[in-house]
Amino acid sequence: MSTITNHMPTADLQALDAAHHMHPFSTNADLSKDGARVITRAKGIYLSDSEGEQILDAMAGLWCVNIGYGRDELADAAARQMRELPYYNTFFKTTHVPAIALANKLSELAPGDLNHVFFAGSGSEANDTNIRLVRTYWAEKGQPDKNIIISRHNAYHGSSVGSASLGGMAGMHAQGGIPIPNVHHINQPNWWAEGGDMAPEEFGLARARELEEAILELGENRVAAFIAEPVQGAGGVIVAPETYWPEIQRICDKYEILLIADEVICGFGRTGSWFGSQTMGIRPHIMTIAKGLSSGYAPIGGSIVNDDIAKVIGDTEFNHGYTYSGHPVAAAVALENLRILEEERIVDHVRDVAAPYLKKKWEALTSHPLVGEAKIVGMMGSIALTPDKSSRAKFASEAGTIGLICRERCFANNLIMRHVGDRMIISPPLIVTPADIDEMFLRIHKSLDEAHAEITKQGLMRAAN
Ligand SMILES: *Cc1c(COP(=O)(O)O)cnc(C)c1O
Repeated sequence: MSTITNHMPTADLQALDAAHHMHPFSTNADLSKDGARVITRAKGIYLSDSEGEQILDAMAGLWCVNIGYGRDELADAAARQMRELPYYNTFFKTTHVPAIALANKLSELAPGDLNHVFFAGSGSEANDTNIRLVRTYWAEKGQPDKNIIISRHNAYHGSSVGSASLGGMAGMHAQGGIPIPNVHHINQPNWWAEGGDMAPEEFGLARARELEEAILELGENRVAAFIAEPVQGAGGVIVAPETYWPEIQRICDKYEILLIADEVICGFGRTGSWFGSQTMGIRPHIMTIAKGLSSGYAPIGGSIVNDDIAKVIGDTEFNHGYTYSGHPVAAAVALENLRILEEERIVDHVRDVAAPYLKKKWEALTSHPLVGEAKIVGMMGSIALTPDKSSRAKFASEAGTIGLICRERCFANNLIMRHVGDRMIISPPLIVTPADIDEMFLRIHKSLDEAHAEITKQGLMRAAN
């Protein structure tokens, strides 16, 4: 076969893609019909495709390209490291400088006594590590039956067997024989969809207390840990009512349950602090990291654990690890990414400039006829689409129908905004300026107006009863 390059016609690339490439979270038969959009390069907050279109990426890839695309410093760091030491492992009493430096840097950035890092290649792997870490921790303390992990419906913790079991995505649990045993799910704090007649504060408390009820039902001596995203990302950017997290913290403290904050999206500035746990005022024992750790330039993840867990695990042989744990090239790229985040004060930029500007415009979207609620924390936001705001009604059409129409309009207007059911979500690169946000909103308004017109025309602006 001849070499496949950027210069081939789009249709040829699409045909070759459909012939041999199986896409994640996709119906591949549809892709071979319609063809996937071929992304060829990117700079700042813009992607280019094979047709030469400039697409504003309001999702930062998959929530990860925090410093934006096209930073040569990261490419240089990777090339330097590849020349010097492209690979070595950290298994049998060996180590290398990138892993040492990155673990030290992360201990410095992470709050409290979260001072120890176990590296993985992704967020999924890191959460698999967490399952084994917390169960081994309690077993080493003489409580091997304290092995149940409580999570939440509609949570996303990854796609491997272990991490997808922790996650609460019904569609994922329907395939491939998951969840694994001893994972228990409670309800999510999604007031818009599930709050009924309760006030948000009352609902937040009620949902947090489901954790206490589950612990009492399963037995305090059976529950090892609770895992949650500070802000649920892939579940639709669900922001808990203010009463939720303080109550969760109280319950974890009272029953000695390890709290795992899955910071894969929230970490590294997205919520306007270094970690979402700081924004939400929680004190986790373990944080899962990935995505923004390298701004997506190289695959790397990890678990940051506290002194106590590191001590207990460190007193035994932990029979766990990945060939690419602490991969030197990925670690060097992550270090360079963290240097840029720090030296260019990007987290401050989010907190003081980008997030306040975005919040004002985002919340004003509720005046659009399609939009019920608008939620936003830092640089992650969601809007609930509804045919009737006052009753928080769902659409009569199958869930996701309206969201998909809206996403297609965004796509046509060169704006990447995702839909989760009938919620639309954004998670732009952290480097966006107010001018970038203005441009983003031109496209958002145009797309929402077009979607509204189309939904109305198709007779879909109707509430489920
Ligand atoms: C993306 C994500 C993961 C999984 O990370 P991968 O690198 O895709 O394995 C885990 N947790 C959260 C909160 C995520 O958003």
